[in-house]
Amino acid sequence: MSSIEEKIEQIYQQVVRRNPGESEFHQAVNEVIGTLAPVLRKYPQYAEHKIIERICEPERQIIFRVPWQDDRGEVQINRGFRVQFNSALGPYKGGLRFHPSVYLGIVKFLGFEQIFKNALTGLPIGGAKGGADFDPKGKSDDEVMRFCQSFMTELHRHLGEYTDVPAGDIGVGAREIGYLFGQYKRMTNRYESGVLTGKSPHWGGALVRREATGYGAAYFVDEMLKVRGESLEGKVCVVSGSGNVAIYTVEKIEQLGGKVVACSDSDGVIYHERGIDVATLKQLKEVERRRISAYADVHRDARYIPGGCIWDIPCQVAMPSATQNELDASAARRLVANGCVAVGEGANMPTTPEGARIFLEAGVAFGPGKAANAGGVATSALEMQQNASRDAWTFEYTEQRLHAIMTEIHRACYETAAEFGSPGNYLIGANIVGFTRVAEAMVAFGVV
Ligand code: NDP
Repeated sequence: MSSIEEKIEQIYQQVVRRNPGESEFHQAVNEVIGTLAPVLRKYPQYAEHKIIERICEPERQIIFRVPWQDDRGEVQINRGFRVQFNSALGPYKGGLRFHPSVYLGIVKFLGFEQIFKNALTGLPIGGAKGGADFDPKGKSDDEVMRFCQSFMTELHRHLGEYTDVPAGDIGVGAREIGYLFGQYKRMTNRYESGVLTGKSPHWGGALVRREATGYGAAYFVDEMLKVRGESLEGKVCVVSGSGNVAIYTVEKIEQLGGKVVACSDSDGVIYHERGIDVATLKQLKEVERRRISAYADVHRDARYIPGGCIWDIPCQVAMPSATQNELDASAARRLVANGCVAVGEGANMPTTPEGARIFLEAGVAFGPGKAANAGGVATSALEMQQNASRDAWTFEYTEQRLHAIMTEIHRACYETAAEFGSPGNYLIGANIVGFTRVAEAMVAFGVV
């Protein structure tokens, strides 16, 4: 190991020591800084200014009590988080996740990833993430509303269109954003549209924001295939999950001529050989809020596999779009053996490090989440632009902008990977592009 690699390993060990028990955060840090040795060799000033050490330490972490009453009048207590990780390139920006598994380590891994993802978009946004260990599943609308109001009663003092701009993530969609915005407006007495993104287009939301992460991920995969002389046209695909990202990934793949044969939730898998019907998916998940098993009641020729593993289904393109570490080494081996040629991460860190290594060694085109799913936050930044100028763009124009941003992210990752000696390795390309953009700003700002 050269002294630069040793130094990076020491920084990583220090992160592990200073943040005990936060395994997802350790994993995300290791995955990024483990690829930065060539950057420090080329730009020694980043080491002098201790940019890696600084970037691994959040600027601010907020943890707070969220008390609320359920429909029976019983008091419930959850824990809320906001980690404002890095504001070198703009106001903190990143979603809120409501899921029982949320704890500080998950929020920090997501916030850390968000720094580089946001930098990759080329738009002026810093990195943050937040959420709560609240489970919206099985809760009434009134319970979700009371929870969101209590959550925002504390969080509002830390937000602002020039300070910190949250959005949705797992368990936080248009309904939750509505309740959160309503309470923010009430607490501050300001109609500050730009303080939250993912709003309904009826009151300040951008068209295409709902579709953006999934559409963007499909565009990114299409770009990866194009440099290999292929495209999504005619490809058999599987998309894990059946939430916001999964639904619009399915929709765009089908628009681009691919066929998605499977999707899932945490209970099981739907296999539909003639292709997932996206209208049914939207009706069941967005309108009726039902489990994915209900799909097989609507389409009798589809098969529901309770407890099944979606990665067992043969496909040419795999799009993990549910949650972190959902695709491990053994799943990666099965996908490769079944002829998978491209993987696009719609979710954040869905592939384990070992899984990613297997894809890279097998020559599979592997699009890491911070690049492939950046379309969501990029369109959030477009929503902020529209709010700032009190404007509303058309669906077609906004989608054109999204498409251009995804093509540019792909180009930057692809060319940078080659420049730093790892052609075709989008993981390395994405980390280096994101890191250097943030590092340049941090050096310019001095020791702050
Ligand atoms: P949703 O809440 O809309 O959907 C999540 C989906 O993933 C559901 O089908 C859910 O199934 C499944 N899922 C969640 N947790 C688990 C788990 N622990 N095990 C198995 N399945 C699980 O969330 P999104 O679609 O918004 O987010 C999905 C992923 O995409 C996340 O990693 C998120 O961070 C990432 N992402 C989202 C963006 C966005 O714009 N929304 C932007 C960029 C990334 P079930 O109902 O059974 O829990």
